[in-house]
Amino acid sequence: MSGSLAVYGGTFDPVHYGHLRSAIEIRQALSVDTVCLVPSYMPPHRQQPDSTPEQRLEMLRLAIDEHAGLRIDDREIKRKGPSFMVETLESIRQEVGSDVSLSLVLGSDAYAIFNEWRRWQDIVDIAHLVVLERPGYALDDVPQSLRDWSMPRWVESPQELLKTAAGKMTRLKVTQLEISASMIRNQINVGLAIDYLLPEKVQDYIRRQKLYSTP
Ligand code: ATP
Repeated sequence: MSGSLAVYGGTFDPVHYGHLRSAIEIRQALSVDTVCLVPSYMPPHRQQPDSTPEQRLEMLRLAIDEHAGLRIDDREIKRKGPSFMVETLESIRQEVGSDVSLSLVLGSDAYAIFNEWRRWQDIVDIAHLVVLERPGYALDDVPQSLRDWSMPRWVESPQELLKTAAGKMTRLKVTQLEISASMIRNQINVGLAIDYLLPEKVQDYIRRQKLYSTP
């Protein structure tokens, strides 16, 4: 393989330490060169975000700043329309070529409905899958069809993913931070403090833009 890249997609409405800490741990556990955070324009499998794509992108920029090994990729926002991950991975694969180990990262909550994603089986032809264990979402608690399909693809060590371009799946137990963007939005909405859940620069931006508080 001539390099490695992990793609961490999400709504990031707003980005928080659960995302950021796991991005760092993914980079270390997989020994990938770069973890690329990809904010969606229009997430197809959940309610639409409260903030605009530009605001979510700016919060990511403020959060990541110049952190080594983390990058933001705005192709879904530029593409507009529903943000199907299979299309994102196809365009990334085209750019990096067939000799790069490419991994898609998703939390166990997202994995639980992975078989509802557009062309979900094709995704693992294009990239590996890394499932982050998240509090409250057991990895075994998925539809039978997904369990059967995934069975031959699981590998124990994340390092295995560096040996091939795509096709394997692994689970990763990152530091369990029970933080979610919806929890942060709710706290703001009821006037509670959000300190230490997300970077201060992002908190300042949320205050300046008056995000997540209904008048
Ligand atoms: P919401 O509460 O609005 O659903 P979220 O906090 O789950 O948002 P998303 O942007 O929807 O954030 O998530 C992007 C990806 O990050 C998903 O794959 C999700 O599982 C993962 N993720 C989110 N929070 C954490 C966390 N605390 N620990 C590990 N993974 C997380």
